[in-house]
Amino acid sequence: MQQIIQVQTAEGPAEIRGYIRGLDDSLRKALHDKHKLGSSKQDSLYFQLWDKVQPFRVKPHSDALWTMPSIPESHKRNIFKYRTGQIWNKNMAFQRRMSYMPGQPIVRDTRCPLSRGDDSQGHIFGSCMHPDMRKQYIARHDKAMKTVIQAFTKGSAVLAI
Ligand SMILES: [Zn+2]
Repeated sequence: MQQIIQVQTAEGPAEIRGYIRGLDDSLRKALHDKHKLGSSKQDSLYFQLWDKVQPFRVKPHSDALWTMPSIPESHKRNIFKYRTGQIWNKNMAFQRRMSYMPGQPIVRDTRCPLSRGDDSQGHIFGSCMHPDMRKQYIARHDKAMKTVIQAFTKGSAVLAI
């Protein structure tokens, strides 16, 4: 018996007809080429920036982190959130009229709780001037540089984190 699956794509509703064994790999294979972007919001700044760099990606290396067992799933989720502009910050809480942390009141400004700078994911990951955050940036940079140097020293083209 043939299965018919209806999906919503950016171009509108679509039907997949055929045999699909499950909702995991076989569904992905059936959908991927035609509908890999799904109903993603393609007019956003993040999408446009992501789309611009596609010709310059080296696919095996750009996508390697998703299959590396040494990277915890929680880190992969955060990387995905960062790439799509979904790291929770006070600016997002303010726009949604929500609290920044569970149990706290609804936020009334977009200021970073540590430095009082304008909060965003860019602020969290690179421009917060609070001394504790600066220490984290330096430690992260040192760790990344040690990994790169180690890979060059070993003569490996693939970084082993
Ligand atoms: Zn800050």
